Amino acid sequence: MVHNWDIVGHQQQLLGLEKDLRDGNVAHAYLFSGPKQSGKFRVARAFAGILQCPNGFCGVCKDCRAVLAGTHPDTLFVKDEGESIKIDEVRELIRKTHLTRQGKVRVILIENVERMPPEAQNSFLKTLEEPPEGTLFLLTTNHIDQVLLTVQSRVRHIPFSTVDDAVLRQYLVKEFGERPEMDEAIVMAQGRPGLAITLIREPVAFDRHKALYNQIETFLKRNDLVQKFQFVEAIEQEDGEVELFLDSLTRYLRKLVFEYMKMPRHALTGRFSLEDLVNLFEFLEKSRYLIDRNVNRKLVLENLMLLTEKN
Ligand SMILES: [Zn+2]
Repeated sequence: MVHNWDIVGHQQQLLGLEKDLRDGNVAHAYLFSGPKQSGKFRVARAFAGILQCPNGFCGVCKDCRAVLAGTHPDTLFVKDEGESIKIDEVRELIRKTHLTRQGKVRVILIENVERMPPEAQNSFLKTLEEPPEGTLFLLTTNHIDQVLLTVQSRVRHIPFSTVDDAVLRQYLVKEFGERPEMDEAIVMAQGRPGLAITLIREPVAFDRHKALYNQIETFLKRNDLVQKFQFVEAIEQEDGEVELFLDSLTRYLRKLVFEYMKMPRHALTGRFSLEDLVNLFEFLEKSRYLIDRNVNRKLVLENLMLLTEKN
């Protein structure tokens, strides 16, 4: 690796980008797809740093510091703060690509481009296909199926997956030293470096994850819809709790699937079949998407809870 990306895992993706740089074959638009918090935006930001820094992302020069801080004049960030991207904002963005830039390249990073409704994505097509000279788009998405095929066909698509536990562990030990809670945090993070780092840095987040997981484990063992509805009603009112809940539920379902593989006559066989678990997984993913897009969260969560009830 020629550049200091400072990224956990994703070696294959980084090598591909390095090859593009080496061959002078950088595309005018990239789309990084994959799970939330797997490091896609971080890769996009490092790529912007490599392009803006005179020394290929040294990390300390004026350009690097500005890119990392999100204040670089030729590097525009459209971060996901939960809102969708409206057609007017896309037009404004397109207008900005025509402004005079200070350096040799303008980089526009759009986090979670699926936030654009189809009509906004459509209004973006022409610019994506032929951006003004010296403009590069770096798009990320957690939900590739929500990105129009016409958009996908105009970008260089690089899929990301989660990071191996062993790779994640190595990074965390190097960064934070051995910690007693390390292995548990790795299991909780499910291959997402962003989350693993948060869990190690913030003991409160770690404890909250753990507590929520234990609660889920307890209440999924029985039918008690009233209790489940009260539970989702309570978490729905707290910022960040819903995401945590969906995460913990995913982890619990994964654990169940894994246990079934080891032991087909599992104690819970009577409760959830493998087919039930697959259905739950699918619905969970759908719920995640709807909640990310601010669809009535309580309703989505209640429907999910209904699925966990058994006759
Ligand atoms: Zn630099």
